[in-house]
Amino acid sequence: MKPTPPWQMARRAARMNPSIIREILKVTERPGIISLAGGLPSPDTFPVAAMREASERVLRDSPKEALQYAASEGYGPLREWVADELGGHGLQVDASQVLITTGSQQGLDLVGKVLIDAGSRVAVESPTYLGALQAFAPYEPEFLSVPCDDDGPLPDALELAAGCRFLYALPNFQNPSGRCMSASRRTELVAKAQAIGLPLLEDNPYGDLWFDAPPPPPLASRWHDGVVYLGSFSKVLAPGLRLGYVVAPKPLCPKLLQAKQAADLHTPGFNQRVVHEVIRNGFLRDHVPTIRARYQAQRDAMRAALERHMPAGCHWTVPRGGMFFWVELPEGTDALALLPHAVERGMAFVPGSAFYADHPKLNTLRLSFVTVAPDLIEHGIALLAQTLKERQ
Ligand code: PMP
Repeated sequence: MKPTPPWQMARRAARMNPSIIREILKVTERPGIISLAGGLPSPDTFPVAAMREASERVLRDSPKEALQYAASEGYGPLREWVADELGGHGLQVDASQVLITTGSQQGLDLVGKVLIDAGSRVAVESPTYLGALQAFAPYEPEFLSVPCDDDGPLPDALELAAGCRFLYALPNFQNPSGRCMSASRRTELVAKAQAIGLPLLEDNPYGDLWFDAPPPPPLASRWHDGVVYLGSFSKVLAPGLRLGYVVAPKPLCPKLLQAKQAADLHTPGFNQRVVHEVIRNGFLRDHVPTIRARYQAQRDAMRAALERHMPAGCHWTVPRGGMFFWVELPEGTDALALLPHAVERGMAFVPGSAFYADHPKLNTLRLSFVTVAPDLIEHGIALLAQTLKERQ
C-alpha cells in the first residue's frame, strides 16, 4: 500500500468554494435545458470578422513583439486608449495609472491581494457579485454586507463600514440585481465614504450596455484618490480575450503591479495588440450600439414573459441596461430548493442566495436575458412560473 501523501492545505484553501453558478452551468449544458442562469454575453455579438482582420495585421506587422514576453503594466497604446476613453466618461486619469489585467476578475484578485489582510473587514453590497466574494475570500477578510435599496448602498448604513479596507461597489446595472445607481445616490455615497475615510472599489463591466440613457459618471470621477476602478472588454468585445483593466490612485500602482507580476507576468500581449488594433479607430462607437439594441429587445421579451406568466406575489424591477433581471419570489419560497424542480421541467436560473456574503435572501433569483432567443425566453419563464405554482 502506498502511503497517503502528506498534503496539508493552506488555511486560505478552506475559504475557496466552487462557484454555484459554474456548478449549475454544468447541469444546464444538457441539451434541451433553457438556461437563464449563465452570465455569458451573446456570442452573436462577438466581432469575429474584425478580430480576424486585426489578428492578421498584428501577425503581419509586429509578430515578434506580439508573441514575445511583454511589460507587466500592459501594452502602452492600449493603456493610452483606456485613459482617453475614461476621460470621455468624466474620469481624468493618466495612462500610467492603467494596469491591463487578465479580465477584470484578475483586477479583483490583485486588489484583494494588495489590500486585504486576514481578519480585516471588507464591505460589500447586498447582494453582490459572487465572483468578487470568491476573489476576496482566500485573503480571509470578514465581510460586512451593507444594506441596499433599488438605488444601491444606503449612505446612512455606510457608517457600519467605517474601518473597512474598502467598499466593493457596482454602480452600473449591477450583477446580480440589474440596478443602476442614480447620480444623487452616487454623490451621497461618495460624500459619506469621504467623511468616514472608506476607500471604494468600483467595478464597471456593464456600464456601456445601457438602453435608454447612459449611466451617470463613475464614482471614481468624484473622488480621484479614494477609488480603484475596474473595467473590462468582456461585455463589449468578447470574454474569451480575458482583457480588463484596473485604474488606481498613484500610491497603489506599484504594489498592484508587483502583485500582477507574481500572478502571470503580464496579460497576453497578442490579445492586447489585437484588441487595440480593433478598437483604435472608433470601432466600439458603432459596435456597442448594436449590442445595446439586441439586449434591449431581449430585455423587453423577458419583461413581457414575466408579466404574462409569473404568479402574484413575485416582484422585479425592469433593468435599464446590463444583462440581468432580479426576481423576488413570495416570502417563504426557497429559490435554491426550487431549482432542481425547474431543471426537471427544462429551465434553469441562479438562486439569489449565491450572491450574498451573509444573511442571504432565499426568495430571490437571477435571470439572464441576453443569451437565449426571445421565444425560448418566453418558454423558459413559463416553465419557471409553472414550477413555482406547483410548489406553492
Ligand atoms: N465583475 C462583474 C460584476 C462581473 O459580472 C464579471 C463577469 N461576470 C466580472 C467582474 C469579470 O469579468 P471579466 O473578468 O470577464 O472582465
